[in-house]
Amino acid sequence: MTDVPGIFASNVFNDEKIRERLPRETYESYRASIESGGSLDIHVANAVADAMKDWAIEKGCTHYTHWFQPMTGITAEKHDSFLTPLEDGHVMMEFSGKELIKGEPDASSFPSGGIRATFEARGYTTWDPTSPAFVKDNTLCIPTAFMSYTGDVLDKKTPLLRSMDRINHEAVRILHLFGKTDVTRVDATVGPEQEYFLIDKEMFERRKDLQYTGRTLFGARSPKGQQLDDHYFGAIKQRVKAFMSELDVELWKLGIYAKTEHNEVAPAQHELAPIFTTVNIAADHNQLTMELMKRIARKHSMVCLLHEKPFKGVNGSGKHNNWSLSTNTGENLLKPGKKPEENTQFLLFLSAVIKAVDEYQDLLRLSVATAGNDHRLGGDEAPPAIISMFLGNDLEAIVEAIINGEDYESQGKVIMNTGAEALPEIRKDTTDRNRTSPFAFTGNKFEFRSLGSALNISCPNIMLNTMVADVLSSFCDELEKADDFDSAVRRLIRKTLKQHRRIIFNGDGYTDEWVAEAESRGLLNLKSTPEALKRYTDKKNIELFRRNHIFSEKEVRARQEILLENYIKIIDLEALTMLDMARKDILPGVSAFTQRLAETVQRKRAVSKEINVSAELKLLNKLSDLLGRFSEKLDELESKVGGSTAYRGDIQRHAEYNAREIFPVMEEVREISDEMEMCTASEFWPYPSYGKLLFSVQ
Ligand code: ADP
Ligand code: MG
Repeated sequence: MTDVPGIFASNVFNDEKIRERLPRETYESYRASIESGGSLDIHVANAVADAMKDWAIEKGCTHYTHWFQPMTGITAEKHDSFLTPLEDGHVMMEFSGKELIKGEPDASSFPSGGIRATFEARGYTTWDPTSPAFVKDNTLCIPTAFMSYTGDVLDKKTPLLRSMDRINHEAVRILHLFGKTDVTRVDATVGPEQEYFLIDKEMFERRKDLQYTGRTLFGARSPKGQQLDDHYFGAIKQRVKAFMSELDVELWKLGIYAKTEHNEVAPAQHELAPIFTTVNIAADHNQLTMELMKRIARKHSMVCLLHEKPFKGVNGSGKHNNWSLSTNTGENLLKPGKKPEENTQFLLFLSAVIKAVDEYQDLLRLSVATAGNDHRLGGDEAPPAIISMFLGNDLEAIVEAIINGEDYESQGKVIMNTGAEALPEIRKDTTDRNRTSPFAFTGNKFEFRSLGSALNISCPNIMLNTMVADVLSSFCDELEKADDFDSAVRRLIRKTLKQHRRIIFNGDGYTDEWVAEAESRGLLNLKSTPEALKRYTDKKNIELFRRNHIFSEKEVRARQEILLENYIKIIDLEALTMLDMARKDILPGVSAFTQRLAETVQRKRAVSKEINVSAELKLLNKLSDLLGRFSEKLDELESKVGGSTAYRGDIQRHAEYNAREIFPVMEEVREISDEMEMCTASEFWPYPSYGKLLFSVQ
């Protein structure tokens, strides 16, 4: 049995360990500057660094790294050793406060969106003392923010921390108006549920598409897919079980509260849900979780796929971002309580979220926009590309009653009769679940469900924190002026709900009726990544970021450029991989099979002119036809890929070209190939089939 409490956070230099290892006064001064957000005295920094180093060396570390999250979406590390040479030829292990606080990685090879030319290489990493340092692979990892020499933001953590400061400030302001002057801090809390696929390593290695692009570019449906619904919550297979157990232990050591793990809807698909925590720590933890999933899967001869849509015709993988606000006094600000209709504080926060989501639908949508996620959104397995909110029956009725000035009494939790005496009575939640909504209220938090599985959760949370903070700020401005606070709050709630009720939708988001209805309500339907990203630099958005000190206009434009460029590169890479696989493997494979068929026809006929060769001839005809069309489509795809040179220098139009011209031809190429796969003998087909990929792990 694993001693969970014993190993939990054993690889983390958390507050408890800092306290144990620092003199009391030094520790108190350290805490005080963290809590006030002030700068750290160099003597204190030296003491923390020294204690951190001693602890890390005890853990077997020889190196340290400033661990950061550049705009690539993954984490970056540059390892330095603690080694310091002494004059007498000996060495000692040293780590100073300066080294802890500031690092200088060569920043030129990380994407900056034109903020920095390659010759301007200098970049800085700065310690984020609110996310604890940890040990990974005998290296002390120090979570850091990353910026350029000129102070421009080059990472995902800095804006996230800024957005946390904003929401903290504005939420505290509101709570003070409600008389809660004991509240000194409000944190955004997040619990990201992570979906992933596990497939056999040997199968993976035989698929160039999975290796180069993370998804299958070809592949006919397997006769058995997810139609029997027999995988969801099904019994977990032995190899997967071993993987999950090891993953849990490694996550626990890093202080990550991995709690639930179960199979998902698709074959070979699984989910991991951690217990929620402060958003910047949740973001760091989610990056670590994804990294560990990949690494531990390899140890078990499997590969963990985090792509949003690895298999066509099979549900893709997403990430559910459960978001709420919580005070230092332990109050969850999105908890409605027994009588939400009387809970004006809750209703005010709820109204703020409703207004924010309505006004910044575009930002939420674009925060989850990637080439991979385009396959999921709107595909009847994930929320549509239209952003709307689900409140559930009870809250929606309250909202309606407020708008109409009517009374409403919440039903609260009702006792559910299970119909069998042996079963205990259970209390039923006031709302059912709505799986189709992109942004659903789930009792005491909002669940943003449009995230793709591979996404760094910082981006959507930067948006959420910033837009809600901005609305709260305008609420405060209004309420601080009011003579009669209570009636001013009620008026404000009613006005806000009235203005933004269009964003609330409790029905089935997968239907065509909703698409039409959303359009008539004036909601955005940004179908593709380039379409969504275009909105990043809309005036109202640039203003929002500037007003809240999250990004300058230059930084917003840089981010937009990086994301568009990333989209272009992915589509190009997929198209080139497709051409390579098609010409080097698929075409020759099918051609060889047709040759075999032709030979069979000839040989059979040599035996007797009368012999029936209709099956071979029919297949030969069909495949030869398909092969001809396939080859023409490949030429078309190649010329489309070449055609993008016309857009050099105009990144928005280039991305739109890739979406409009290249992507649909890729779909056509695939369709022909999949049809050929269905009638080509297995021994001639160059790649493992969907059946082999999806059911390879037992
Ligand atoms: P389910 O979605 O199945 O109802 P839970 O209610 O346990 O499951 O929540 C799913 C995720 O939401 C978990 O990661 C959980 O930690 C997280 N969560 C729960 N409460 C909060 C909260 N107040 N803030 C942020 N995340 C939360
Ligand atoms: Mg969920």
